[in-house]
Amino acid sequence: ENIRLGFIGLGNMGFPMSENLVKSEYTVYGFDINPTAISKFKELGGQVCQSIKEVVQQVDVLFLSLPSPAIVEKTFYEEGIIKYSPEGLMIIDTSTVNPELNRTIFNVCQENNLKYLGAPVSGGVIGAVNATLTFMVGGPKEYFDEVLPLLDVLGKNLFHVGESPDSGTVIKLINNLMIGFYTQAVGEALTLGENMGLDHERMFEILSVSYGQSRIYERNYKEYIAENNYEPGFTTNLLLKDLKIAKQMAEECEVKLPIGEQLVDWYTKIANEGYGDNDMSAAYLMTKDLAKK
Ligand code: NAD
Repeated sequence: ENIRLGFIGLGNMGFPMSENLVKSEYTVYGFDINPTAISKFKELGGQVCQSIKEVVQQVDVLFLSLPSPAIVEKTFYEEGIIKYSPEGLMIIDTSTVNPELNRTIFNVCQENNLKYLGAPVSGGVIGAVNATLTFMVGGPKEYFDEVLPLLDVLGKNLFHVGESPDSGTVIKLINNLMIGFYTQAVGEALTLGENMGLDHERMFEILSVSYGQSRIYERNYKEYIAENNYEPGFTTNLLLKDLKIAKQMAEECEVKLPIGEQLVDWYTKIANEGYGDNDMSAAYLMTKDLAKK
C-alpha cells in the first residue's frame, strides 16, 4: 500500500492501533509528546516525527487518539493541523470528544478543504490490540467508504452512524454512560457478595450465566479485579471525562438522567481518592474500602 498514514497520540489505544497499521505494511508517521510512547513506536517500525506539522505534511490520512476534547482542539488550532495540512487530507479522530467539537472542527475542516470524520471507538485496549474495535463514525458517507479498508485493519464492527460529524460521538457517549453504570454495579455487587461470604470466582461462574452478566463484568473482573492489577486499560479519569460530556449532552436536549448524572460526582470522588489514573474497574476498590468503614 502506498497510502501514507499519520498517527497523533500513541497511548493505550493509539499505540496498538498504529501497530496494526504498521503490521499491515502501511508507512505510519507518528507523533506523541511522551518520549516513552515515541520510542515504543520507533521500535515497532513507525516513522517518528518531531511535531504535528511534520506528520501532517507527509501523509494522506491522519488518525488521532488523544485524551481530551481540549487537547484535540489544541492540536487542530494552536499546534497546526488546520494550518499545515495539505488540501484533501483525510482526518479520522478516534478520540472521544464532545459533539459540539466534532461539529466545529468538521466545519473548519470543510472551509480548509480537509476531510474530517468523528470516529470514536469501543472495545478497549484489548480491542485495539486484536483489531476488534467497534467504530462509530459520523460524517459524510463517502468519506466513510473511502477509509473503510483502513478501519478494517483496526476494527471488526464498522458503523457509519450518520452524516452529521457528531453522530458517532453521540452513541459512543451513550455507550460510556452504560459503562459508568455497569462498572459501579460490578463494584457494589462484588463488595456485597464478598461481605456475605461469597467467593469471587464462584460468583463469576454463576452470574456469568445469569441476567446480572455483562461485558463490563467480564472485562472488569477477569482482566483487573481477579488479577488485582489496575494498570489501565481505560482510566477512571477518561470515564469521568465521558460521563461529564454525556451529562452535558443530556442537559442540552433537556433529558433527565436520575442516576446517570450522579455518576459524575461519584467517579469524581473515586478519582480524588487516588484512583484517577487506574483502570476504571478500581471503582470496585473504592466501594470495597467504604464497606469497611
Ligand atoms: P492515553 O492517555 O493512554 O493516550 C493518549 C496519548 O496522547 C498519550 O500517549 C499522550 O502522551 C498523547 N498526547 C497528549 N497530548 C498530546 C499532544 N498535544 N500531541 C501529541 N500527543 C499527545 O489515552 P487512551 O486510553 O489511549 O485514550 C485515547 C482516546 O481514546 C481518549 O479520547 C479515550 O476516551 C478514547 N478511548 C479509550 C479507550 C480505552 O479503553 N483506553 C477506549 C475507547 C476510547
